[in-house]
Amino acid sequence: MSITDDLPAIVAPGLTIDGGTASAPGRIGVINPATAQVFVRVPDAGGSELDRAVHAAHRAARPWRARSLPDRQEHVLRLVALVRDHIDGLALLLTLEQGKPLANARGEIQSALRYCERYAAMQLPVEVVRDDAEERIEIRRVPVGVVGAITAWNYPLLLAIWKIAPALVAGNTVIVKPSPYTPVATLRLGELAQAVLPPGVLQVLSGGDELGRAITVHPLIGKISFTGSERTGKAIMASSSATLKRLTLELGGNDAGIVLDDADPAAIAAGLYWGGLSNCGQVCAGLKRLYVPEQLAPQLEEALAAVAATVVVGDGTHDGVDMGPIQNQSQLDRVESLVAAAQRQGAEVYFRGQAPAGPGYFHPVTLVRNARDEMRLVAEEQFGPVLPDLTYRDVDEAVARANASDLGLGASVWSADEDRAVEVARRLEAGTTWVNQHPMLSPDTPFGGLKQSGLGVESSLHGLLGYTDISVLRVKR
Ligand code: NAD
Repeated sequence: MSITDDLPAIVAPGLTIDGGTASAPGRIGVINPATAQVFVRVPDAGGSELDRAVHAAHRAARPWRARSLPDRQEHVLRLVALVRDHIDGLALLLTLEQGKPLANARGEIQSALRYCERYAAMQLPVEVVRDDAEERIEIRRVPVGVVGAITAWNYPLLLAIWKIAPALVAGNTVIVKPSPYTPVATLRLGELAQAVLPPGVLQVLSGGDELGRAITVHPLIGKISFTGSERTGKAIMASSSATLKRLTLELGGNDAGIVLDDADPAAIAAGLYWGGLSNCGQVCAGLKRLYVPEQLAPQLEEALAAVAATVVVGDGTHDGVDMGPIQNQSQLDRVESLVAAAQRQGAEVYFRGQAPAGPGYFHPVTLVRNARDEMRLVAEEQFGPVLPDLTYRDVDEAVARANASDLGLGASVWSADEDRAVEVARRLEAGTTWVNQHPMLSPDTPFGGLKQSGLGVESSLHGLLGYTDISVLRVKR
């Protein structure tokens, strides 16, 4: 039974510019990945819409930063209350455009709101480094100005809200550009927000990659906060250099998990499974390479297959579905080709679940053994519902292989002995290393990547400070 059986026609949201809804000459057809059909068309913003939005944001920036911190935080809390009131509608849009089950769509929004509430309770520190008869020196945090927030298609609302909340609390105005694959819920958020925010403070523009590029070169934008692929992150770093924009880049990951030989396969199987395959495997900090002691592999594979066998794949609007489709056709093609290539090189699919035949972009849960580090399925971020395991003989070897990557977003160690696990965890090169879990994020904990997984962090006070510059005040006495 699907709740979309009697769904009213979706009203296409518009762009939000300067407190009002706006359109653009072109349209983007947004595909529901569970049906492979366009379900709504939204504006395809170009240079002139961007320019209007940036000028409005620039005009709004001075009065917004002049408000007190508690006042700005109060506005963010009003936005939280508004989103809670509209959570059903937003969650449905998220499921229709992204594919994830409705319960997960609601969970994504609720989680994002917890981050907002935390930012709404933070202080922006003023550090006094000298205060004596001769001089007072203060280190203050000031907003950057206009922030361009560019997001990916795996967690459209969470990623947008992760940027909007700290940017606004810190005193910036924001222009959000969601992925052209998943712009709908974010556009709707922009429309809703106009009831609680002054004009120009938050604007949402849907558009393609070219619109993203235009944001990164616009001279009135002071910072880019980006979540997406490593390739695009590098392009943004290059294009935004001409105007020396501040950057936060949350890029890809190819997280390794190391199971130690004392781990109990039955106890850790569900944690490993969901660590890798939640959101249909489309998680930047998902577990993507599983290193297992040779002697433990058969038991662990059996335990993982038992968990996988319980997972129902289907249309996210249907009751009882645990995992939706992959978000888009090219991602589905990529995952299928990586699995096929690994099989040709000797890997074995030891579990393949059930999935609807299509026309949606469904991919069965796929567990792979006899994988090797050099296979593209392992060496690259595959971003799909596939978990390859790789066997090792000693822990030093496993650590070296886990660290042999240009990426360093997350990593995990699994063991019955916490001290032993922590010792191994400290040797892994990652922005976050978990023990007996993967990937757990929370509002008070910074999240970001080492190496080529990113620049800067999101969440926590560290994330908030990323939306500020340092400005020093020196008073001679
Ligand atoms: P993508 O890089 O293709 O696109 C992301 C966004 O960038 C889209 O809005 C796109 O239109 C825009 N864009 C594309 N080219 C641009 C350019 N030259 N300048 C400015 N903007 C441009 O990424 P994707 O395929 O949407 O997302 C998947 C990737 O995102 C994966 O690699 C995943 O690991 C990563 N991701 C990372 C995190 C994290 O927090 N580290 C979270 C989610 C996803």
